[in-house]
Parts: sequence; structure tokens; C-alpha cells
Amino acid sequence: MPGTSNDAVDIAVIGAGVAGIATAYYLCSEQGKTSVVLIDPRQPMSYTSAQSGDNYRNWWPHAIMTAFTNDSIDELDRLARDSNDVFNMTRGGYVLASRKEPDREDQASGSAIASDYPWLSDEIRSVTHIRRGGDISAQQLGMYMLEKIRGCGGRLLRGAVTSIGAGRTFELEIDTGITVEAEQLVNAAGPFANYIAGMLGETLPVSNLFQQKVAFEDRLGAIRRDMPFSIDLDAKTLSWTDEERDLLADDPDLAWLTETMPGGTHCRPDGGPRGKWVKLGWAYNNKISEPQEDLANEPLADPQFPEIVMRGAADFIPALKPYIDEPPTRYSHYGGYYTMTEENWPLIGPMATDGAFMVAALSGFGSMSACAAGKLCAAWMTSNILPDYATALSRARYDDEALMQELRNATSRGIL
Ligand SMILES: Cc1cc2nc3c(=O)[nH]c(=O)nc-3n(C[C@H](O)[C@H](O)[C@H](O)COP(=O)(O)OP(=O)(O)OC[C@H]3O[C@@H](n4cnc5c(N)ncnc54)[C@H](O)[C@@H]3O)c2cc1C
Repeated sequence: MPGTSNDAVDIAVIGAGVAGIATAYYLCSEQGKTSVVLIDPRQPMSYTSAQSGDNYRNWWPHAIMTAFTNDSIDELDRLARDSNDVFNMTRGGYVLASRKEPDREDQASGSAIASDYPWLSDEIRSVTHIRRGGDISAQQLGMYMLEKIRGCGGRLLRGAVTSIGAGRTFELEIDTGITVEAEQLVNAAGPFANYIAGMLGETLPVSNLFQQKVAFEDRLGAIRRDMPFSIDLDAKTLSWTDEERDLLADDPDLAWLTETMPGGTHCRPDGGPRGKWVKLGWAYNNKISEPQEDLANEPLADPQFPEIVMRGAADFIPALKPYIDEPPTRYSHYGGYYTMTEENWPLIGPMATDGAFMVAALSGFGSMSACAAGKLCAAWMTSNILPDYATALSRARYDDEALMQELRNATSRGIL
């Protein structure tokens, strides 16, 4: 429904990605708010939320992120039941593979790996199988929640917020020429969350890192259709012939390809048991970007990524090796921003400005955590009962020096 020049609502949600939609969903469906408008110049779910690998897990280096994602998976389970699984939730788990010997009793080793995880390289010495993990169709989840929002009286407004006046109410100027007046606002602008914060005179401690994926048609049938999401935890150097290595090492732009790369190469079948496509990813980029309006203009999008990720994946799933010399002919290479804080925890809850809230910095875990994130923000906004982790996931955590020190000292930030 189009807005008018004097649109007045209780709540304006800026951004109709998975974060904004989930927040509006919980405001409408749980908190009884009906005067909610979602503002976005793009189609819903079409920016970062369209680039997601759609994987979910409750495996994290810190108990707070485990509790947060467990709550989100509880919500996903409930929504899957209520919607007749309209978003195709699977529960194959995450297989974490390493060449290091097992250091815990619950890790598989030796012959158990060969029999239970036969797609893994025989160099793999330990496997942890996270059971509460799998994938969803976040697009379908978003569409389902949007339908419920509309059913409660919430609506979408097409346009970009260009400035925000903050007084007794907020006045949001939209690039289409209209002004939306709102009692409360939610900053769910994904990679642009800091721009929206700037309109309120605030700065968020977030940056954007461009990460890429490849989906390809597995013409060789290299990946079993029932293979769970599999991840190589180990840092590695890519395998090159001596000649290739020398050539790369001599090129200042490409020499990094001969150096040690971080762990986290991942692979899974995509499109169900009868599908033929496979997704590969590897979030190795650590250079910060200014978010581009058009993702195709991102300077760090790397034309070599499909080859790099294939080499990385073939290193722990040898059936992929033939694709190094004869690459897939049908594939799609895409990417988007991990909008993240240094510690890789989200920012959910009140902003410094009274009446302004945020669901931001969802990094590489926004599809899996959107439900808990949206529910949490809606609870903050209505002064409802908050879960134990609410303060730690809000900007108030920066006042907790002991927690911040613990996070700074952590050996892993859970980036995949
Ligand atoms: C390559 C890749 C793989 C990923 N894989 C996974 C995965 O396997 N599992 C997982 O859980 N997560 C994954 N993620 C992370 C997940 O996709 C994101 O965390 C999530 O989509 C972020 O959602 P969002 O709503 O915050 O942002 P977005 O989807 O970017 O939505 C923000 C919206 O705000 C709008 N906006 C911006 N500025 C304005 C303005 N001025 N006015 C109005 N609207 C505005 C934008 O148009 C946009 O639609 C992945 C991300 C990437 C990039």
C-alpha cells in the first residue's frame, strides 16, 4: 500500500531484509502491534538476505551465542510446524573436519570417519558432527513472515530513508518525497545500518566484509545428495604445481594465494535429494568494504573465487578434485557483506537515541538467528520480558569490560 505525504505509524522498520521482516513479524504477531511499516527501496529479502548460504547451527565458541541461536532454531522449528514446512527446513547437522587428532571423546576418529563420513579425505583425523544444524530457505521464511505481517495490518513502503528528524516523534524523509512520522523506529538496514545510525548522530562499531559463494551443477555427481553441510576447520595452503606456485608468488596481486589461508571451507548439496547443485563457500576475506548499492560493483568480488574455493574444498573432499582441471560449466558466483562487530556478536536492542532500536551486525548468521533477533528487538521495544542474553547482545555489552576482555581473548569468533 503506498504511503501518503503525511504517513503516521507507531513503528517504522528501516530495511526489509530478514532482520527487519522478523522484527516486524514479532511486533505484529507476539506484541500485538498493528501500526507497523517496513520501509525499503528494494524488494523484500533481495539484498544481503538473498546471498545467504541458508545454513543454521547451534555451534558457537561462546554459550551466549549458543543460547541465542538455540532460541532461534526453536522458533524455526515452530514456524516450520505451523507453516507445513514452507521453508524446507532440514536437520542434517554440520560435519566439522580436521587433520588434528581428536581432543574430545565425542569426536569421531580413525575407521569411524572412513565408515560414517566416507566423502572426507583420509588425511582427516577428527570429526565433530553438530546435530542441531541444517538449512532452510530463508527467502520462503521471509515471505511467510511477510504474509503474517500483512495479515496483522502491517505494510511495506517502497523507498529509501534519506534523513531522520528526532523530536517528540521521528520524522523519516523518504526519497519518494513523503515523510513518515513514527513513535519508534528500528534500524534493520543491514550493511547500511551505520548510515542510518549517522542520521541520528550515532556511530555503530560495525564494518562490512564481502564474502563469496559458488553454486555449481555437479555434473560428475561428486557430492552425495545426503551429505551434511561439511566444513574443513583447518587453515591451509592451496595445492599448486611448482610452476603455478612460482608464477603466483611473483605476482604482487596474487602472491597471497600461495600463503596460508584460514579454515572454514564449506560444501553442501543444494536443492534436495533429486537436485544436482552444490554450494561452496569460504569466508576468507578480511578487508573492509564500503557497501555498494549494487553488489555487482563490489571491487573485492574476486573472479578467481570459484577456482580458489574449489581447490580449498577438494582438499578435504577429494571427489571434487576433477573440477580443478575441468571446472563446472554451469555455476553461479555471488556474494554479499558480513556486517559485523569486531567480536562477531550482533547488536540488538536500544540505540542511544530514545525510541530508536536496532537489529544489526548479523554477520554470517543472520538467516539462522533472525527469529531470535527479531523477537528480542520486539521485546526490547515493548518492555517485555527479556532473555538472559539480552544485555550481552545489546550495545550495553561495551560497558562490561570483563565480557569484552573475554571476547577479545577468544581464540575463535565463530566465523564461517
Ligand atoms: C555470502 C553470504 C553467505 C551467508 N550465509 C549464511 C548462512 O549460511 N546462514 C546464515 O544464517 N546467514 C548467512 N549469511 C548472513 C545473512 O545473509 C545476513 O546476516 C542477513 O541476510 C542480514 O540480513 P539483514 O536484514 O540485516 O540485511 P539485508 O538483507 O541487507 O537487509 C537490509 C535492507 O535494508 C535496506 N536499506 C538499506 N538502506 C536503507 C535506507 N536508507 N532506507 C530503507 N531501507 C534501507 C536494504 O535495501 C536491504 O534490503 C550469509 C551472508 C553472506 C553475504
